[in-house]
Amino acid sequence: MPRTADPSFADLVNDWFAHAARPLPWRAAEISPWAVLVSEFMLQQTQVARVLPRWTAWLERWPTPAALAAAPPADAVRAWDRLGYPRRALWLHEAATEIVERHGGEVPASIDELLALKGIGPYTARAVAAFAFGERHPVVDTNTRRVLARAIEGRAHAGAPSTARDLAAMDAQLPLDPEAARRFNAAAMELGATVCTARTPDCGGCPVRQRCAWVAAGCPADETPKRRQARYEGSDRQVRGIVLAELRAAHRPVDRAALGTRWADAEQLDRALGTLVADGLAVAGADGYTLPEA
Ligand code: SF4
Repeated sequence: MPRTADPSFADLVNDWFAHAARPLPWRAAEISPWAVLVSEFMLQQTQVARVLPRWTAWLERWPTPAALAAAPPADAVRAWDRLGYPRRALWLHEAATEIVERHGGEVPASIDELLALKGIGPYTARAVAAFAFGERHPVVDTNTRRVLARAIEGRAHAGAPSTARDLAAMDAQLPLDPEAARRFNAAAMELGATVCTARTPDCGGCPVRQRCAWVAAGCPADETPKRRQARYEGSDRQVRGIVLAELRAAHRPVDRAALGTRWADAEQLDRALGTLVADGLAVAGADGYTLPEA
């Protein structure tokens, strides 16, 4: 598109992205919508470096929604390995089944149809529509929210998420041209992930430093109280992870006594087993616990 003498915020970020973007495989031009969808499921709670090998292996094994839908859910939970929040593996398997049943095995492009799939919320639906199909939608993740809060609003941190407000803030910066909009969605995320990071923003290397409202205001400190991160050690999450690791490795029922050798607190172990069964990640049978084989 022709440029005016005064580039927009999006122009600056997109120009930077053209040379600074990490070469992530799900951004490749020829990538399938299914590959994009899998990447978005995996990236929801997990860092890029941990996602990369699992994403590659997943798509080698299940290159289409139909391939995953034909496998037992247990295989998906095993292949998810230690990416964390393993319900995402079950949801992805269920979404693949829905894609086969409702859409002939093709990932749908419309936000409403994407939102109707298991495990897909407002962020993922927009991300798939924008990145896989090139549709012009604002896509806002945590990194984008931080960039906009600082550069546009002059605040150190974005505060609590609000889908409507966050989408409106991104929409106000989004280029009209769909391809430039798609790039800006990815570029703003990348800027937040690699330059405008939560703890140590590299303002000296930032393409929008001259326009940044937070820098212009003298980098005011964050006034909001810090949230303490929940401890993993000793948490129910840790116990669930230990149980799932046992079930993944076993390929046969694992009884309660065997699981008791892996975690001494019986009450906490039973609570973890109860939530795993309730989530569909484990099945209780006469001989013990298994992953969901069907
Ligand atoms: Fe973030 Fe600094 Fe860039 Fe502003 S100048 S957007 S605070 S990295």
